[in-house]
Amino acid sequence: MRYSVFSLLSQGLRGNRGWQPVWRQPSPKSQYDIIIIGGGGHGLATAYYLAKLHKRTDIAVLEKGWLGGGNVGRNTTIIRSNYMLPPNTYFYEHSMKLWEGLEQDLNFNTMVSQRGVLNLFHSDIQRDAFARRGNAMRLAGVDAELLDAKQVKQLIPVIDIDNARFPIEGGLFQPRGGTARHDAVAWGYARGANALGVDIIQNCEVTGLDIENGSVRGVHTNQGDIRAERVGIAVAGHTSVLAQMANIELPVESHVLQAFVSEGIKPLLDTVVTFGAGHFYASQSDKGGLVFGGDLDRYNSYAQRGNLPTAQNVLTEAVAVMPAVARLRLLRQWGGIMDMSFDGSPFICKTPVEGLYLNGGWCYGGFKATPASGWCFAHTIANNEAHDLNAHFTIDRFERGNVIDEKGAGPFPWEQ
Ligand SMILES: Cc1cc2nc3c(=O)[nH]c(=O)nc-3n(C[C@H](O)[C@H](O)[C@H](O)COP(=O)(O)OP(=O)(O)OC[C@H]3O[C@@H](n4cnc5c(N)ncnc54)[C@H](O)[C@@H]3O)c2cc1C
Repeated sequence: MRYSVFSLLSQGLRGNRGWQPVWRQPSPKSQYDIIIIGGGGHGLATAYYLAKLHKRTDIAVLEKGWLGGGNVGRNTTIIRSNYMLPPNTYFYEHSMKLWEGLEQDLNFNTMVSQRGVLNLFHSDIQRDAFARRGNAMRLAGVDAELLDAKQVKQLIPVIDIDNARFPIEGGLFQPRGGTARHDAVAWGYARGANALGVDIIQNCEVTGLDIENGSVRGVHTNQGDIRAERVGIAVAGHTSVLAQMANIELPVESHVLQAFVSEGIKPLLDTVVTFGAGHFYASQSDKGGLVFGGDLDRYNSYAQRGNLPTAQNVLTEAVAVMPAVARLRLLRQWGGIMDMSFDGSPFICKTPVEGLYLNGGWCYGGFKATPASGWCFAHTIANNEAHDLNAHFTIDRFERGNVIDEKGAGPFPWEQ
């Protein structure tokens, strides 16, 4: 069913009784050409682009829970392409371009809002590092503007540029960055993939991989065994668990990342802002709540829940940037599991097992990658080789010494 102003009007006149379910609830078949494990943003986008661009429609997406129950529905919705190293810059800019046309492509309102992303800097040295990143972005055709403290204050009147410990000297601004409605992205891709014939199977957990003579033959699930010629793993926080089923040891650790939402208030923050002297960022949702994020829980965990020490840490930093928010009440807090790679960059690649493909290592930033990740993973699975845009995102980059360490943080996943 195509959504338009006419379908809305006609449904309204008929008491809204003619709307169709957005996706089917099929039982799994015994065999598919391609299985995608994980019905998060990346798995659904992969299935959509496989069907749409590569005309491969005998596909199942297997999701152990419900669509939107993983990180795709838990993140803080920020999209941007403000990276410095070429493999990241071109990949994330491709994603940004796909975001810019996504709603028309999917015929679904994913609420893409290009309200800008501002990274604050607090010292001359940090300004130089940000200027370098901004210059690299502009050379690659990505928008970037270096703002001084006065321009920052004009953009965010509530900000405290004279904070005693961390005075704000300016910020690197990407005007085309912003936010998108996270779960609508999952629903939009699911709807698009379903319409092209993809079977989306919820409550279907993959418990093992069927591998014979170095080639994948299918998967074992709690709904029975399913055979497939090609299998793609896109399970975010459980990436290393699935990789171990194929005896692949990955440089990935799982950590919890938390998010926070305040009570709704009048428009206060028109852009996305990140603190440069700690780990804190904020934006305002369309409902009016301030959405905050911060640092990882630094221990390994698969728990999808929040805790008080991180709340205290994040809210202390919030008050350092915008003292006025101290008077707000916090409404909600939750956690999601991050697949932190050892250089902060992802994997979209083939694996040593023939027919088995890997998508993971997304760290904090996989939501903004969703369209390009699905696009590149679909290309890799359909053609059995990487596209230029994901050619660097391999597992063996660590053996070859070609790490893509955007932050220069070294091999410490919790620092990425
Ligand atoms: C609090 C928080 C804030 C974040 N903020 C941002 C942000 O502002 N911007 C940004 O770019 N990124 C952000 N991220 C990161 C981003 O959400 C993730 O990197 C991205 O969503 C991961 O890809 P996904 O959507 O496919 O993951 P998921 O939605 O987690 O999908 C993976 C799916 O695999 C399923 N699965 C796991 N194991 C199995 C199995 N054995 N069988 C079948 N299915 C299985 C899971 O149930 C899950 O649904 C944030 C994450 C969190 C938690």
